[in-house]
Amino acid sequence: MFPKPKAAIAPNTYEYETTPLVKPTGFREYDARWLLEKEINLIGVQALGLGMATLFHELGVRPDIVVGHDFRGYSMSVKTALISGLMAGGMRVHDVGLALSPMAYFAQFDLDCPCVAMVTASHNDNGWTGVKMGAARPLTFGPDEMNRLKEIVLEAKSKAREGGSYKFIPGFAERYMADLAKRPKLKRKLKVIAACGNGTAGAFAPKVLEAIGCEVVPLDAELDHTFPKYNPNPEDLKMLHAVRDAVLQHKADVGLAFDGDGDRCGVVDDLGEEIFADKVGVMLARDMSAGGKGGQFIVDVKSTGLWLTDPVLKQNGVKVDFWKTGHSYIKRRANELKAIAGFEKSGHFFFGPPFGRGYDDGILSAIAVCEMLDRNPDKKCRICVWRCRALGSRRPCRRIAMTKRNTASSIKS
Ligand SMILES: [Zn+2]
Repeated sequence: MFPKPKAAIAPNTYEYETTPLVKPTGFREYDARWLLEKEINLIGVQALGLGMATLFHELGVRPDIVVGHDFRGYSMSVKTALISGLMAGGMRVHDVGLALSPMAYFAQFDLDCPCVAMVTASHNDNGWTGVKMGAARPLTFGPDEMNRLKEIVLEAKSKAREGGSYKFIPGFAERYMADLAKRPKLKRKLKVIAACGNGTAGAFAPKVLEAIGCEVVPLDAELDHTFPKYNPNPEDLKMLHAVRDAVLQHKADVGLAFDGDGDRCGVVDDLGEEIFADKVGVMLARDMSAGGKGGQFIVDVKSTGLWLTDPVLKQNGVKVDFWKTGHSYIKRRANELKAIAGFEKSGHFFFGPPFGRGYDDGILSAIAVCEMLDRNPDKKCRICVWRCRALGSRRPCRRIAMTKRNTASSIKS
Protein backbone atom coordinates (compact mmCIF):
# COMPACT_ATOMS: atom_id res chain seq x y z
CA MET A 1 0.00 0.00 0.00
CA PHE A 2 2.71 2.46 0.98
CA PRO A 3 6.04 2.52 -0.83
CA LYS A 4 9.10 1.34 1.09
CA PRO A 5 9.94 3.89 3.79
CA LYS A 6 13.19 5.83 3.49
CA ALA A 7 15.61 6.39 6.33
CA ALA A 8 16.10 10.08 5.52
CA ILE A 9 14.16 12.58 3.42
CA ALA A 10 14.70 16.33 3.22
CA PRO A 11 11.68 18.21 4.54
CA ASN A 12 9.80 20.71 2.41
CA THR A 13 10.20 18.58 -0.72
CA TYR A 14 7.86 16.65 -3.00
CA GLU A 15 9.34 13.40 -1.73
CA TYR A 16 8.75 14.29 1.94
CA GLU A 17 5.04 14.73 1.24
CA THR A 18 4.65 11.51 -0.75
CA THR A 19 6.99 8.94 0.79
CA PRO A 20 7.08 7.43 4.27
CA LEU A 21 10.10 8.54 6.33
CA VAL A 22 10.95 6.02 9.06
CA LYS A 23 14.44 6.02 10.53
CA PRO A 24 15.34 2.40 11.39
CA THR A 25 16.92 3.31 14.74
CA GLY A 26 13.49 4.33 16.03
CA PHE A 27 12.61 0.67 16.54
CA ARG A 28 14.05 0.00 19.97
CA GLU A 29 14.16 -3.14 22.11
CA TYR A 30 10.73 -2.74 23.62
CA ASP A 31 9.13 0.35 22.13
CA ALA A 32 9.57 2.86 19.32
CA ARG A 33 10.76 6.46 19.42
CA TRP A 34 11.53 9.08 16.79
CA LEU A 35 12.10 12.79 16.42
CA LEU A 36 8.97 13.86 14.61
CA GLU A 37 9.56 15.37 11.15
CA LYS A 38 13.31 14.65 11.23
CA GLU A 39 13.16 10.87 11.70
CA ILE A 40 9.54 10.06 10.92
CA ASN A 41 6.85 11.92 8.97
CA LEU A 42 3.11 11.42 9.23
CA ILE A 43 3.03 9.06 6.23
CA GLY A 44 5.73 7.12 8.06
CA VAL A 45 3.43 6.95 11.10
CA GLN A 46 0.62 5.66 8.85
CA ALA A 47 2.98 3.00 7.51
CA LEU A 48 3.87 2.11 11.11
CA GLY A 49 0.17 1.69 11.98
CA LEU A 50 -0.37 -0.57 8.98
CA GLY A 51 2.73 -2.57 9.91
CA MET A 52 1.49 -2.96 13.48
CA ALA A 53 -1.90 -4.16 12.22
CA THR A 54 -0.11 -6.72 10.03
CA LEU A 55 1.93 -7.94 13.01
CA PHE A 56 -1.15 -8.18 15.26
CA HIS A 57 -2.80 -10.37 12.62
CA GLU A 58 0.33 -12.51 12.33
CA LEU A 59 0.28 -12.97 16.08
CA GLY A 60 -3.26 -14.24 15.75
CA VAL A 61 -4.85 -11.96 18.32
CA ARG A 62 -8.37 -10.54 18.08
CA PRO A 63 -7.92 -7.23 16.22
CA ASP A 64 -9.28 -4.91 18.91
CA ILE A 65 -6.84 -2.21 19.97
CA VAL A 66 -6.81 0.59 22.54
CA VAL A 67 -5.11 3.79 21.46
CA GLY A 68 -4.32 6.87 23.52
CA HIS A 69 -2.00 9.87 23.38
CA ASP A 70 -0.03 11.96 25.86
CA PHE A 71 -0.16 15.73 26.28
CA ARG A 72 2.11 17.17 23.62
CA GLY A 73 1.37 19.65 20.86
CA TYR A 74 1.61 17.01 18.14
CA SER A 75 0.67 13.72 19.86
CA MET A 76 -2.92 13.88 18.62
CA SER A 77 -1.79 14.25 14.98
CA VAL A 78 0.62 11.35 15.37
CA LYS A 79 -2.13 9.24 16.92
CA THR A 80 -4.57 10.10 14.13
CA ALA A 81 -2.03 9.05 11.50
CA LEU A 82 -1.32 5.85 13.41
CA ILE A 83 -5.06 5.10 13.66
CA SER A 84 -5.54 5.48 9.92
CA GLY A 85 -2.78 2.91 9.34
CA LEU A 86 -4.21 0.54 11.97
CA MET A 87 -7.68 0.76 10.43
CA ALA A 88 -6.33 0.19 6.92
CA GLY A 89 -4.80 -2.97 8.36
CA GLY A 90 -8.15 -4.17 9.69
CA MET A 91 -7.88 -3.15 13.35
CA ARG A 92 -10.93 -2.13 15.36
CA VAL A 93 -9.69 0.99 17.16
CA HIS A 94 -10.93 2.02 20.60
CA ASP A 95 -9.61 5.53 21.25
CA VAL A 96 -9.45 6.55 24.93
CA GLY A 97 -8.21 10.06 24.02
CA LEU A 98 -5.72 11.94 26.19
CA ALA A 99 -4.20 9.32 28.43
CA LEU A 100 -1.35 8.10 30.58
CA SER A 101 0.32 4.88 29.43
CA PRO A 102 -1.19 2.97 32.39
CA MET A 103 -4.62 4.32 31.47
CA ALA A 104 -4.25 2.70 28.05
CA TYR A 105 -3.06 -0.55 29.69
CA PHE A 106 -6.05 -0.43 32.04
CA ALA A 107 -8.32 0.04 29.02
CA GLN A 108 -7.04 -3.24 27.55
CA PHE A 109 -8.63 -4.95 30.55
CA ASP A 110 -11.63 -2.69 31.03
CA LEU A 111 -12.64 -2.59 27.35
CA ASP A 112 -11.45 -6.15 26.74
CA CYS A 113 -9.02 -5.31 23.94
CA PRO A 114 -6.02 -7.60 23.42
CA CYS A 115 -3.87 -4.89 21.81
CA VAL A 116 -2.61 -1.44 22.76
CA ALA A 117 -0.78 1.44 21.09
CA MET A 118 0.02 4.41 23.28
CA VAL A 119 1.48 7.46 21.55
CA THR A 120 3.94 8.99 23.98
CA ALA A 121 7.50 10.20 24.26
CA SER A 122 7.29 9.74 28.05
CA HIS A 123 9.63 12.21 29.81
CA ASN A 124 11.63 13.18 26.72
CA ASP A 125 12.16 16.62 25.22
CA ASN A 126 9.61 18.10 22.92
CA GLY A 127 10.15 17.00 19.36
CA TRP A 128 10.22 13.32 20.32
CA THR A 129 7.33 10.99 19.73
CA GLY A 130 6.94 7.28 20.21
CA VAL A 131 4.66 4.33 20.63
CA LYS A 132 4.41 1.81 23.46
CA MET A 133 2.58 -1.23 22.19
CA GLY A 134 1.51 -4.70 23.15
CA ALA A 135 -0.66 -7.65 22.13
CA ALA A 136 -0.73 -9.77 25.29
CA ARG A 137 -1.92 -7.76 28.25
CA PRO A 138 -0.35 -6.81 30.62
CA LEU A 139 2.85 -7.20 28.57
CA THR A 140 4.26 -4.80 26.02
CA PHE A 141 6.35 -5.80 23.03
CA GLY A 142 9.82 -7.23 23.56
CA PRO A 143 12.75 -7.53 21.11
CA ASP A 144 11.17 -10.34 19.01
CA GLU A 145 8.02 -8.40 18.25
CA MET A 146 9.95 -5.16 17.74
CA ASN A 147 12.34 -6.78 15.26
CA ARG A 148 9.51 -8.31 13.30
CA LEU A 149 7.64 -4.99 13.27
CA LYS A 150 10.76 -3.25 12.00
CA GLU A 151 11.08 -5.78 9.19
CA ILE A 152 7.41 -5.50 8.20
CA VAL A 153 7.46 -1.69 8.15
CA LEU A 154 10.86 -1.06 6.58
CA GLU A 155 10.47 -3.73 3.90
CA ALA A 156 6.87 -2.71 3.17
CA LYS A 157 5.53 -6.18 3.95
CA SER A 158 2.33 -4.78 5.43
CA LYS A 159 -1.05 -6.03 4.28
CA ALA A 160 -4.22 -3.96 4.01
CA ARG A 161 -7.31 -5.72 5.35
CA GLU A 162 -11.06 -5.17 5.55
CA GLY A 163 -12.85 -4.76 8.86
CA GLY A 164 -11.11 -1.74 10.37
CA SER A 165 -13.24 0.59 12.49
CA TYR A 166 -12.97 3.51 14.90
CA LYS A 167 -14.72 4.17 18.16
CA PHE A 168 -14.04 7.00 20.62
CA ILE A 169 -14.60 6.06 24.26
CA PRO A 170 -15.96 9.10 26.10
CA GLY A 171 -15.22 9.61 29.80
CA PHE A 172 -12.60 6.92 29.99
CA ALA A 173 -10.30 8.95 32.28
CA GLU A 174 -13.04 8.96 34.93
CA ARG A 175 -13.31 5.17 34.70
CA TYR A 176 -9.58 4.83 35.13
CA MET A 177 -9.44 7.16 38.12
CA ALA A 178 -12.46 5.51 39.76
CA ASP A 179 -10.77 2.12 39.43
CA LEU A 180 -7.63 3.41 41.20
CA ALA A 181 -9.62 5.13 43.94
CA LYS A 182 -11.77 2.03 44.63
CA ARG A 183 -10.08 1.06 47.92
CA PRO A 184 -10.41 1.83 51.63
CA LYS A 185 -9.49 5.41 52.40
CA LEU A 186 -6.26 6.16 54.27
CA LYS A 187 -6.76 6.21 58.02
CA ARG A 188 -4.71 9.33 58.61
CA LYS A 189 -4.31 12.42 56.53
CA LEU A 190 -1.05 12.27 54.61
CA LYS A 191 0.16 15.50 53.14
CA VAL A 192 1.64 14.72 49.74
CA ILE A 193 3.27 16.78 47.04
CA ALA A 194 1.99 15.58 43.65
CA ALA A 195 4.59 16.83 41.17
CA CYS A 196 3.74 16.45 37.50
CA GLY A 197 6.17 18.73 35.63
CA ASN A 198 3.19 20.12 33.65
CA GLY A 199 2.88 16.72 31.97
CA THR A 200 -0.14 14.49 31.37
CA ALA A 201 -0.19 13.08 34.92
CA GLY A 202 -1.25 16.53 36.18
CA ALA A 203 -4.76 15.85 34.91
CA PHE A 204 -5.12 12.64 36.89
CA ALA A 205 -2.62 11.99 39.71
CA PRO A 206 -3.67 14.78 42.14
CA LYS A 207 -7.35 13.79 41.78
CA VAL A 208 -6.70 10.13 42.52
CA LEU A 209 -4.50 10.89 45.52
CA GLU A 210 -7.19 13.19 46.89
CA ALA A 211 -9.81 10.50 46.35
CA ILE A 212 -7.86 7.98 48.47
CA GLY A 213 -7.74 10.49 51.32
CA CYS A 214 -4.48 12.42 50.89
CA GLU A 215 -4.13 16.12 51.43
CA VAL A 216 -2.62 16.98 48.06
CA VAL A 217 -0.38 19.89 47.26
CA PRO A 218 -0.20 19.89 43.45
CA LEU A 219 3.13 21.01 42.01
CA ASP A 220 3.24 22.00 38.34
CA ALA A 221 0.07 20.01 37.75
CA GLU A 222 -1.37 22.37 35.13
CA LEU A 223 -0.97 20.86 31.68
CA ASP A 224 1.52 22.80 29.56
CA HIS A 225 3.23 20.94 26.78
CA THR A 226 5.94 23.55 26.46
CA PHE A 227 7.20 22.10 29.80
CA PRO A 228 8.14 25.59 31.00
CA LYS A 229 10.06 24.43 34.09
CA TYR A 230 11.57 21.01 33.41
CA ASN A 231 10.68 17.79 31.64
CA PRO A 232 8.39 15.57 33.70
CA ASN A 233 11.06 13.06 34.70
CA PRO A 234 11.52 11.90 38.30
CA GLU A 235 15.16 11.05 37.55
CA ASP A 236 15.84 14.68 36.57
CA LEU A 237 17.53 16.70 39.31
CA LYS A 238 15.55 19.82 38.43
CA MET A 239 12.32 18.03 39.13
CA LEU A 240 13.69 16.42 42.30
CA HIS A 241 14.90 19.77 43.61
CA ALA A 242 11.50 21.34 43.00
CA VAL A 243 9.85 18.46 44.86
CA ARG A 244 12.34 18.74 47.72
CA ASP A 245 11.67 22.46 48.08
CA ALA A 246 7.91 21.90 48.04
CA VAL A 247 8.13 19.08 50.62
CA LEU A 248 10.12 21.27 52.98
CA GLN A 249 8.00 24.36 52.39
CA HIS A 250 4.70 22.58 52.98
CA LYS A 251 6.07 20.18 55.62
CA ALA A 252 4.68 17.33 53.57
CA ASP A 253 4.90 13.66 54.54
CA VAL A 254 6.15 12.65 51.12
CA GLY A 255 6.84 14.01 47.64
CA LEU A 256 5.63 12.01 44.63
CA ALA A 257 6.97 12.90 41.20
CA PHE A 258 5.28 11.51 38.08
CA ASP A 259 6.86 11.15 34.67
CA GLY A 260 5.35 12.40 31.43
CA ASP A 261 3.25 9.34 30.66
CA GLY A 262 2.53 8.39 34.26
CA ASP A 263 4.09 4.95 34.37
CA ARG A 264 6.80 5.97 36.85
CA CYS A 265 6.70 7.71 40.20
CA GLY A 266 9.74 9.11 42.02
CA VAL A 267 9.65 9.34 45.82
CA VAL A 268 11.11 12.10 47.99
CA ASP A 269 11.00 11.66 51.76
CA ASP A 270 9.86 14.24 54.29
CA LEU A 271 13.42 15.53 54.63
CA GLY A 272 13.40 16.31 50.94
CA GLU A 273 15.72 13.45 50.04
CA GLU A 274 15.11 11.30 47.00
CA ILE A 275 14.70 7.61 47.74
CA PHE A 276 15.96 5.62 44.77
CA ALA A 277 13.44 3.29 43.18
CA ASP A 278 15.24 0.08 44.23
CA LYS A 279 15.15 1.25 47.84
CA VAL A 280 11.52 2.26 47.62
CA GLY A 281 11.10 -1.33 46.40
CA VAL A 282 12.80 -2.71 49.53
CA MET A 283 10.48 -0.63 51.70
CA LEU A 284 7.38 -1.70 49.81
CA ALA A 285 8.46 -5.35 49.86
CA ARG A 286 8.96 -5.17 53.63
CA ASP A 287 5.47 -3.73 53.96
CA MET A 288 3.78 -6.08 51.52
CA SER A 289 5.36 -9.17 53.06
CA ALA A 290 4.82 -8.08 56.67
CA GLY A 291 3.68 -10.70 59.15
CA GLY A 292 5.63 -13.45 57.42
CA LYS A 293 3.47 -13.34 54.29
CA GLY A 294 6.58 -13.81 52.17
CA GLY A 295 6.12 -13.81 48.43
CA GLN A 296 8.11 -13.48 45.23
CA PHE A 297 9.66 -10.17 44.19
CA ILE A 298 11.55 -9.44 40.98
CA VAL A 299 14.26 -6.80 41.01
CA ASP A 300 16.58 -5.26 38.49
CA VAL A 301 20.13 -6.77 38.65
CA LYS A 302 21.47 -3.28 39.29
CA SER A 303 19.44 -3.00 42.50
CA THR A 304 20.76 -2.49 46.01
CA GLY A 305 22.35 -5.44 47.84
CA LEU A 306 19.81 -4.87 50.60
CA TRP A 307 17.56 -7.24 48.67
CA LEU A 308 19.93 -10.03 49.74
CA THR A 309 20.89 -8.84 53.19
CA ASP A 310 17.84 -7.15 54.68
CA PRO A 311 16.89 -9.12 57.81
CA VAL A 312 13.22 -8.15 57.65
CA LEU A 313 12.83 -9.42 54.09
CA LYS A 314 14.46 -12.69 55.20
CA GLN A 315 12.31 -12.91 58.29
CA ASN A 316 9.19 -12.29 56.22
CA GLY A 317 10.15 -15.14 53.89
CA VAL A 318 10.58 -12.97 50.79
CA LYS A 319 11.96 -14.64 47.65
CA VAL A 320 14.00 -12.33 45.43
CA ASP A 321 14.76 -12.89 41.78
CA PHE A 322 17.36 -10.60 40.19
CA TRP A 323 16.52 -10.03 36.54
CA LYS A 324 17.74 -8.18 33.45
CA THR A 325 17.48 -4.36 33.49
CA GLY A 326 14.74 -2.88 31.35
CA HIS A 327 11.10 -2.44 32.19
CA SER A 328 9.85 -4.89 29.59
CA TYR A 329 12.05 -7.68 31.00
CA ILE A 330 11.11 -7.03 34.61
CA LYS A 331 7.44 -6.91 33.64
CA ARG A 332 7.64 -10.23 31.78
CA ARG A 333 9.51 -11.91 34.59
CA ALA A 334 7.14 -10.59 37.27
CA ASN A 335 4.18 -11.93 35.31
CA GLU A 336 5.89 -15.26 34.57
CA LEU A 337 6.63 -15.91 38.24
CA LYS A 338 3.30 -14.41 39.36
CA ALA A 339 5.29 -12.11 41.61
CA ILE A 340 3.78 -9.81 44.19
CA ALA A 341 5.76 -7.05 42.54
CA GLY A 342 8.63 -6.33 40.19
CA PHE A 343 10.80 -3.25 40.67
CA GLU A 344 12.88 -1.76 37.89
CA LYS A 345 15.55 0.72 38.85
CA SER A 346 14.38 3.66 36.76
CA GLY A 347 11.08 3.56 38.64
CA HIS A 348 8.78 1.22 36.74
CA PHE A 349 6.96 -0.90 39.36
CA PHE A 350 4.79 -3.86 38.39
CA PHE A 351 2.30 -5.04 40.96
CA GLY A 352 0.65 -8.39 40.40
CA PRO A 353 -2.95 -9.14 41.36
CA PRO A 354 -4.73 -8.38 43.59
CA PHE A 355 -2.95 -5.02 44.14
CA GLY A 356 -2.26 -4.39 40.47
CA ARG A 357 -2.76 -5.96 37.07
CA GLY A 358 0.89 -6.54 36.22
CA TYR A 359 1.59 -3.33 34.30
CA ASP A 360 3.43 -0.23 35.49
CA ASP A 361 1.27 2.58 36.81
CA GLY A 362 3.00 5.48 38.58
CA ILE A 363 -0.22 6.47 40.32
CA LEU A 364 -0.63 2.94 41.69
CA SER A 365 3.01 3.07 42.86
CA ALA A 366 2.18 6.33 44.63
CA ILE A 367 -0.84 4.69 46.26
CA ALA A 368 1.39 1.80 47.43
CA VAL A 369 3.75 4.31 49.07
CA CYS A 370 0.86 6.18 50.74
CA GLU A 371 -0.69 2.95 52.03
CA MET A 372 2.70 1.84 53.35
CA LEU A 373 3.02 5.11 55.26
CA ASP A 374 -0.54 4.78 56.49
CA ARG A 375 0.14 1.28 57.82
CA ASN A 376 3.44 2.27 59.43
CA PRO A 377 2.74 5.46 61.31
CA ASP A 378 5.50 6.97 63.37
CA LYS A 379 4.66 9.83 65.61
CA LYS A 380 8.12 11.27 65.45
CA CYS A 381 8.79 11.66 61.82
CA ARG A 382 7.04 9.59 59.21
CA ILE A 383 8.82 8.35 56.10
CA CYS A 384 12.42 9.23 57.00
CA VAL A 385 12.30 6.97 60.07
CA TRP A 386 10.74 4.19 58.07
CA ARG A 387 13.36 4.76 55.41
CA CYS A 388 16.28 4.68 57.87
CA ARG A 389 15.00 1.47 59.41
CA ALA A 390 14.21 -0.21 56.16
CA LEU A 391 17.39 0.78 54.39
CA GLY A 392 19.69 -0.38 57.12
CA SER A 393 21.08 3.05 57.80
CA ARG A 394 23.27 3.09 60.91
CA ARG A 395 22.43 6.71 61.44
CA PRO A 396 19.48 7.50 63.61
CA CYS A 397 16.79 9.51 61.98
CA ARG A 398 18.31 12.85 61.14
CA ARG A 399 15.14 14.89 61.08
CA ILE A 400 15.96 16.79 64.24
CA ALA A 401 19.52 17.48 63.18
CA MET A 402 18.41 18.38 59.71
CA THR A 403 15.74 20.84 60.70
CA LYS A 404 18.33 22.79 62.67
CA ARG A 405 20.38 23.16 59.52
CA ASN A 406 19.43 24.51 56.19
CA THR A 407 17.65 21.46 54.90
CA ALA A 408 17.47 22.59 51.33
CA SER A 409 21.13 21.95 50.65
CA SER A 410 21.54 18.58 49.05
CA ILE A 411 19.86 15.52 47.70
CA LYS A 412 21.28 12.13 48.51
CA SER A 413 20.29 8.62 47.77
ZN1 LIG B 1 7.14 6.81 31.38
